[in-house]
Amino acid sequence: MSDSPTRTPFLSNDAFSHGVIERFLRYVAIDTQSDPASPTCPSTDKQKNLGALLAQELRDLGLADAHLDEHGYVYATIPATTDKPNVPVICLCSHMDTSPDCSGEGVKPQIVKNYQGGDIVLPADPNQVIRFAEHPALAQQIGHDIITTDGTTLLGADNKAGLAEIMDAAAFLIAHPQIKHGPLKILFTPDEEIGRGVDKVDLKKLGADFAYTMDGETAGNIEDETFSADGAVVTITGVSAHPGFAKGKIEHAIKIAAAIVERLPKDTCSPETTEGREGFLHPIGITGTLEQATLSLIVRDFAEAGLQEKAALLHRIVDEVMRGYPHSTATVEIKPQYRNMKEVLDRHPELVENAREAIRRAGLEPVTTAIRGGTDGSRLSFMGLPCPNIFAGEHAFHSRLEWVSRQDMEAAVRTIVHLAMIWEERA
Ligand SMILES: [Zn+2]
Repeated sequence: MSDSPTRTPFLSNDAFSHGVIERFLRYVAIDTQSDPASPTCPSTDKQKNLGALLAQELRDLGLADAHLDEHGYVYATIPATTDKPNVPVICLCSHMDTSPDCSGEGVKPQIVKNYQGGDIVLPADPNQVIRFAEHPALAQQIGHDIITTDGTTLLGADNKAGLAEIMDAAAFLIAHPQIKHGPLKILFTPDEEIGRGVDKVDLKKLGADFAYTMDGETAGNIEDETFSADGAVVTITGVSAHPGFAKGKIEHAIKIAAAIVERLPKDTCSPETTEGREGFLHPIGITGTLEQATLSLIVRDFAEAGLQEKAALLHRIVDEVMRGYPHSTATVEIKPQYRNMKEVLDRHPELVENAREAIRRAGLEPVTTAIRGGTDGSRLSFMGLPCPNIFAGEHAFHSRLEWVSRQDMEAAVRTIVHLAMIWEERA
């Protein structure tokens, strides 16, 4: 940090309004659940309802190029306020869809003002309790206003908190043209929750050098690593016969598939037995008849070698099981899904450094962590747009216990504004 008097002074936290919560409550009222079974883009047309609203709000802010395209993506540009010609173009990105795992229809947000600790019982279903003991992040929220659902739907803070934060930061920057920043791009994507968030993104049109997704959990976090991910499909062809005349003949494909699942590691290598930097091999689907069965799995690890180890383990298990079925066959097909973005981000250390500084200026302690999953950013990074993930404040997402606090969302808004200033300062 230099002490140059020409630079915009740090903004105090009081400079910001509290508009983010009002935006957030409006966005969660619009159902945007995505659907993995749909072949279209966006997978559900209703995502465009929110996209159209966001594009209109951006135009109302004065961003003339804001629009929703035919694939359900929202693009907009916040023009530079600096004379410096070489400030990188930074994109801010969030996704509009919510998880297919839990209903997002008729979301009724509840606000617990000035939270003082303890369990939060959701009013429409007393069985839905956000327990203090099970949500350790609540300990950091004393005195905050916590937004939950009524217990019948998810909240959609994943990732409408991010949308509201980017929208509020955009409104703030436009209202304060004296704040110096380079060109900023806004990108809102559909279908992130079903892994298709960047399938139809037009990176040329977007024209950004670097990006940040606002889709992380705990306030202060910046994530520069994701899992590396493969999908595996085991296809088994057994031997069928009439069950009344089958003695010594049948080799049952469903039973072969079950034997493979039974041999997967039980105390390690599964989502339910791992955490931190450990990966897993995880069955996600099984279909079959006597003659043919298909077993789908996902393979996750932070390192390429870890992925290969797990793929080798799957091959070994399949080979061992198949020895007991000499007339049947099994094939294992492994397809890459996404890769750990750290490999790309390490080539541009200023991306994470600038975000850490922005988080610090927003009044929080930055923490760099790894995501046990993927983001739009992991794929964008490998498509040529390096993209770490900054906190949005969302917690317990994809469930009826989902919550976010007003103060964390406001800290995210400040982080975005400082981030824009820091890229300009350091250019
Ligand atoms: Zn998300």
